[in-house]
Amino acid sequence: MKGEIFSIGHELLMGELSDTNGSWIAAKLPALGIQLQFMSIIGDNLDDLAGAFARGLKRSDIIFTTGGLGPTQDDLTREGVAKAVGETPVVQEEVVKDLERYFQGRGMTMPATNIKQAYLIPSARFIPNPNGTAPGWWTQRNGKIIINMPGPPGEMHPMFENEVAPRLREIIKDEVTLTRNIKTIGLSEGAIDEMLTEFFNRGNPYLGIYAKQDGIHLRIIARAGDAATAQGLIQPMEEGIVSRVGPYVWGYDDETPEQAAGQALKARGLTLATMESVSGGYLVNSITDVPDSASYYKGGVVALDDQLKIANGVPAEIIKKHGSVSQETATAMAQAIRRSLGADFGIGIVGVSGSRGEMVQGRPAGLGYLSVAGPDRVKEMELRIPPRRVVVKRRLANTALIELRRMVSAL
Ligand code: AMP
Ligand code: MG
Repeated sequence: MKGEIFSIGHELLMGELSDTNGSWIAAKLPALGIQLQFMSIIGDNLDDLAGAFARGLKRSDIIFTTGGLGPTQDDLTREGVAKAVGETPVVQEEVVKDLERYFQGRGMTMPATNIKQAYLIPSARFIPNPNGTAPGWWTQRNGKIIINMPGPPGEMHPMFENEVAPRLREIIKDEVTLTRNIKTIGLSEGAIDEMLTEFFNRGNPYLGIYAKQDGIHLRIIARAGDAATAQGLIQPMEEGIVSRVGPYVWGYDDETPEQAAGQALKARGLTLATMESVSGGYLVNSITDVPDSASYYKGGVVALDDQLKIANGVPAEIIKKHGSVSQETATAMAQAIRRSLGADFGIGIVGVSGSRGEMVQGRPAGLGYLSVAGPDRVKEMELRIPPRRVVVKRRLANTALIELRRMVSAL
């Protein structure tokens, strides 16, 4: 089945909003057996929308849209569909009642403009939206499908998962594509290539290898008549890969370093504290992105000035002797914060950000040190990172979390 995605909204065309809905939906389609062939960004303009729907219906079997289902004049997605298929929207009284109840529940009366959200054309059915006022539209006509969903990701994601995907699984009988992403760190691409040589060039399942900022990812892609068969192709290859490079694997699929580390700590009832300089709070921020991180994370100090490091227990002599950017200082930071907060593990990060070729206190930009201090040992690491500020911050924080996960898992 051939598909396309429209991300609709003037603010997308103005560059004020980046289109995350499009890529989110795109990632879901292979497993449903839909081959994506176009992604478009379209403004809130009736003729442009009607034209895009008319073209899309000619060249694709299914069109997904997000945005433009709001109550205001400028939201014209429904009108665009109606115009393209030549049908007239009619107000559905029972949906008007639902909308009125929604507003009453919030102590408000429904603004008159919201009536638009109760429109429907004869070929369309509503897709319920328990998280907002705009129901989606599922239009089916001459063997083609248009699925209109609201723009806010908090409304669109559950609508897709709970309503759209299950219905599509019933309808579509095409081959599905499943992927499994295995994330490793510590081996070079060449070394992995050699260790896994028997798994490459097999066709189905296909094994791809990708160098990313958090290590080397191995992606298994399997195609089959249904999801269970595709899963059956993936599993033996995954087991074979893990049996060879297992110690270097730190996560799977969408898992992030902070999730992997958090899970490892939580499973063992262990705790963490951090002290960072060059990463400027990136470490604290990513650790606390994980739900329930407060159960294992005691907190972190962002100590740029040496006085702040010393105030938090780093011996002044170590900084004086080895410099602020040194392995010794990173280790002293990890140990000091671990001790002062009574945590099982401590992370220390120092480094130099700046432009390429620049020297800061005799150290080249992009040089970083991290230390992970545990109950009975310390893991130390020196990194040379392309000296772009965000890259330095991200790479040091991610690497520290992956090393932490490895140490905790080995306990
Ligand atoms: P709309 O349904 O067009 O009124 O969009 C409502 C809100 O949903 C926008 O203000 C954005 O916050 C969000 N949104 C709409 N389209 C997208 C998109 N393609 N990607 C991410 N967020 C979006
Ligand atoms: Mg809009």
